[in-house]
Amino acid sequence: MKIDGGCHCGAITYEAEIDPEKVGICHCTDCQTLSGSAFRINLVVPEDDFRLLSGEPKTYVKIGDSGAQRAQTFCPECGSPIYSTSVGDGPKFFNIRLGTARQRDELPPKFQYWFRSAQRWLTDLDSVPKFEKQ
Ligand SMILES: [Zn+2]
Ligand SMILES: [Zn+2]
Repeated sequence: MKIDGGCHCGAITYEAEIDPEKVGICHCTDCQTLSGSAFRINLVVPEDDFRLLSGEPKTYVKIGDSGAQRAQTFCPECGSPIYSTSVGDGPKFFNIRLGTARQRDELPPKFQYWFRSAQRWLTDLDSVPKFEKQ
């Protein structure tokens, strides 16, 4: 499936060819901090299936639990996270941040990982009062 998207301010835009089965929620503590939210949703694509159309993302390299370095890219203007990928040579996969994709409504998550650090209230979200607007 072809998707396109970009950051909030519009400086960075991209397109990608993705597999809708490869949409996953990551509950790791790094994703909680880096996204500023309870979890992050990723679309995993081989590097070759991702094409940057405009802008130049800034990169922050973090060290994961495994000790591996992981490049986190984001818009230098508005801070929107764009994707993460491995550091160094060899074939790469990009974890596109789902919220940047225009087609996100059509891409429900298919699996969840690092669930051991998931916020426990997530499973009770249905019972939390909801307002259609602010
Ligand atoms: Zn931006
Ligand atoms: Zn994570």
